[in-house]
Amino acid sequence: MINLVLFGPPGAGKGTQSDMIKEKYELLHLSTGDLLRGEIKAGTPLGIKAKELMDQGQLVPDEVVIGMIDSKIKANKSGNGFIFDGFPRTVAQAEALDQLMASNDISVSGMVALDVDEEELTKRILKRGETSGRTDDRNEDLIRARVKEYENKTAPVANFYDAQSKLKSISGVGSIEEIFGNLCTAVDSL
Ligand code: ADP
Repeated sequence: MINLVLFGPPGAGKGTQSDMIKEKYELLHLSTGDLLRGEIKAGTPLGIKAKELMDQGQLVPDEVVIGMIDSKIKANKSGNGFIFDGFPRTVAQAEALDQLMASNDISVSGMVALDVDEEELTKRILKRGETSGRTDDRNEDLIRARVKEYENKTAPVANFYDAQSKLKSISGVGSIEEIFGNLCTAVDSL
């Protein structure tokens, strides 16, 4: 079983690479951003609350995303494994994920971080906003707020996995195929 945490700032390419990784290794792709957007689309109370925060570039509360992931892990623990995309996004979420995994007798294999500089990120997200239909991708102030939130709350998650010797970093700049090749090498070494 491979249980991969794909890490990186907004716009680093986690979604694109996750799609390719899940095909190759036959993993279940769990994106908390996609799950939240699903709740918004369905108009659930959770979605309505989450939208308010997401529209300001803020994270939704830990217990909300942990609850969403919990049921998915339980239901799929006998598969080939998971690729976590956009989760864990805080150290509290990382600790909760370790506990959830342990209670299902599985564990996180490792984290691969995609490195991309802030200027490139903003460019990519604005470009994505032209077609993605995501309102949070259209406004430069909102994008900067998301990157700030990432730096303050999410970046420390890399140290959490580094302390367990589970962190690998690769460049997230280059062609999609080139990055995918380096990512596969990192996954194979976990
Ligand atoms: P991106 O990483 O490109 O910003 P995502 O789709 O991963 O896009 O996330 C969109 C928004 O959803 C985030 O800005 C945040 O508000 C919310 N979100 C997603 N995942 C989490 C999480 N694990 N914890 C808290 N909030 C989250």
